[in-house]
Amino acid sequence: MKNPVESAWKRPLALTGGLVVGALGGWLANGHVATGVALVAVAEIVLLLTHLRHIAKPIMSLSSIPPDGPSDPSRHDRFMMRSRRLAANLHDLRRAAGNLPDAIVLLDQDQHVRWFNHAAESLLGLRRPQDRGVVLKERLHNSELASWLEETSPEPLNDVSAPGAPSRHINVTLLPFGTRQRLLLARDISHMSRLEQIRRDFVANVSHELRTPLTVIHGYLELLDPEDVPHLAPVLNEMRAQSKRMGQIVEDLLTLSRLETQDHVSEERVPMAPLLATLRKEAEALSQGRHSITVENMAAIDLLGSPKDLHSALSNLVSNAVRYTPTGGRITIRWERTAEGANYSVTDTGYGIPADHLSRLTERFYRVSSSRSRDSGGTGLGLSIVKHVLGLHQARLDIRSTPGQGSTFTCCFGRERLMSPETHEST
Ligand code: ADP
Repeated sequence: MKNPVESAWKRPLALTGGLVVGALGGWLANGHVATGVALVAVAEIVLLLTHLRHIAKPIMSLSSIPPDGPSDPSRHDRFMMRSRRLAANLHDLRRAAGNLPDAIVLLDQDQHVRWFNHAAESLLGLRRPQDRGVVLKERLHNSELASWLEETSPEPLNDVSAPGAPSRHINVTLLPFGTRQRLLLARDISHMSRLEQIRRDFVANVSHELRTPLTVIHGYLELLDPEDVPHLAPVLNEMRAQSKRMGQIVEDLLTLSRLETQDHVSEERVPMAPLLATLRKEAEALSQGRHSITVENMAAIDLLGSPKDLHSALSNLVSNAVRYTPTGGRITIRWERTAEGANYSVTDTGYGIPADHLSRLTERFYRVSSSRSRDSGGTGLGLSIVKHVLGLHQARLDIRSTPGQGSTFTCCFGRERLMSPETHEST
């Protein structure tokens, strides 16, 4: 490869040599010393100009750059500009996340805290900078949140007291983030909890206030004998039926209010064999011989929980099966062991429920057909009560139904709720 410095000097030297030789030639040809000297001088001037041209070129190009940067930025400049823009965007996003009202904590695969926003300081009680890098569940030890974090894939945690501000209520979710990191989100729901509490209190108070006047009205209606006033007999019977219905609605609302405020139930043995016998009797009394009723006790195991609430929930399902199955239908009450624990199910060959209603059945006053529910003496609160009772027993309700063919309502109990009839111990 040619050395640029070497070539920069070689050319002018060759040029000078050529001119000097030319000058000497001129002198020899003309015989005049002055002509030779003049030619050498011209040669030197040409050499000087050549050098000046070389030096001026870079100086001129440097002086043509505007002071605020190149008008046509190089690739490097463009890259730098993009990096600066990205850094600014990142900064903005971080500031936005930092100021969100929801607490956000970025956790690595071992639950070490990598980053958290301001709301995480107030709601979860994290402190900057000392809590960066700590293990979150250890930092929040002795809180409901810490035991929740122990779980391998925790379901969202609803309405728990905020570790950093115990008077506030939060909903917490853990989301997968990046390759192995996770994002903990905690939303302050104190306002909603307060409204929910007001609603609960209102319903409980109204129900309580209605109870006494309804009992009085019902009592007087019972005293009146329709045979004494035959022309008013149909009216009187209707008034009795409606006051009874109102009384039942009030009782169900009070039961629901009580269940909603409870966070645990009594831990008593609930012997299943006698309970199943009672449920059969209740079903037969309600059915009045219109259905064929079968009870299959395949589990030989008892439940642990509140006898009163469990009876209420399990009999609600039986009562629904009888009320929503036309005459001649079959009803099967089954108690059986499963891999997860035990199932109590009620299967009927009744009207069935269209699929789009299934997810809403446990809402208060939700009915597939209001007239059918009313005519059969329903309050629209039965399945709501079932759901709450099961929730308090860490059990769940599974509903399967085919319109025109029938339904199966199954209460799935976990192993921790089972008791062996002999040993009286949890299995
Ligand atoms: P209700 O007092 O109206 O029966 P529930 O909460 O017990 O209230 O049930 C809600 C609705 O679910 C009922 O109105 C009815 O439409 C439907 N349902 C419940 N059980 C059955 C069943 N076994 N077969 C068909 N529909 C049912």
